[in-house]
Amino acid sequence: MSSAAALETTRKKSIREISPIDVYKLLPKTNCGECGEANCMAFATRLVNGELVLANCPPLHTPEYTRAGEALSILMAPPVRAVIIGTGDTAITVGGKYVLWRHEFTYHNPTPIAIDVHDMMAKNELRDRVTAIGTFSYSYIGRKLVLNAVAIRSVSKDPSTFAETVKTVAGATSLPLILCALDPAVMEAGLLAAKDRRPLIYAAMEGSWKAMADLALAH
Ligand code: SF4
Repeated sequence: MSSAAALETTRKKSIREISPIDVYKLLPKTNCGECGEANCMAFATRLVNGELVLANCPPLHTPEYTRAGEALSILMAPPVRAVIIGTGDTAITVGGKYVLWRHEFTYHNPTPIAIDVHDMMAKNELRDRVTAIGTFSYSYIGRKLVLNAVAIRSVSKDPSTFAETVKTVAGATSLPLILCALDPAVMEAGLLAAKDRRPLIYAAMEGSWKAMADLALAH
């Protein structure tokens, strides 16, 4: 088998290639209606269309259907993993897309918008900007759009200066944080200051990717 053919056989199916029958085969097939659908086939069709999630079928989460539930979770998992940034009500999910192009299927996780601050800003200027980010909203065709995250850039390149800024921002907002530093030592100081906030870290470079990956795992 050629390497291209091998890749094709191991490639995860896109959601458009999963048929409702693939899903139906793994469902309890009792047509109990607990999901609100008339039968399991209707549920399978709506699941493949992205209108329902596996959690909508309660019997799948009972011991009797544990193995089928796990198989369905693997089948329905998006090719690109979803990543949660932040905690609580303001946490945002990025990735988790089933397709590359918007016209192929609905994008389920809208692109979040972050505004940056940096560690050379005066404290009052920093707090003012963080407050403005947290309170900004814009009405657009009946929807209230808000900003989703605060990016904190290391300009000083000094670990303690960065940590102090991260601490100030973390104390002033519950929005998810994005820590931006190229030096792993600076990043570590920022991560310690943002303990329990589950921040996104940026950026791993050719010479620092391993140290950054270790930090991501440790924190
Ligand atoms: S809750 Fe599950 S088992 Fe019951 S009808 Fe819906 S899909 Fe089928």
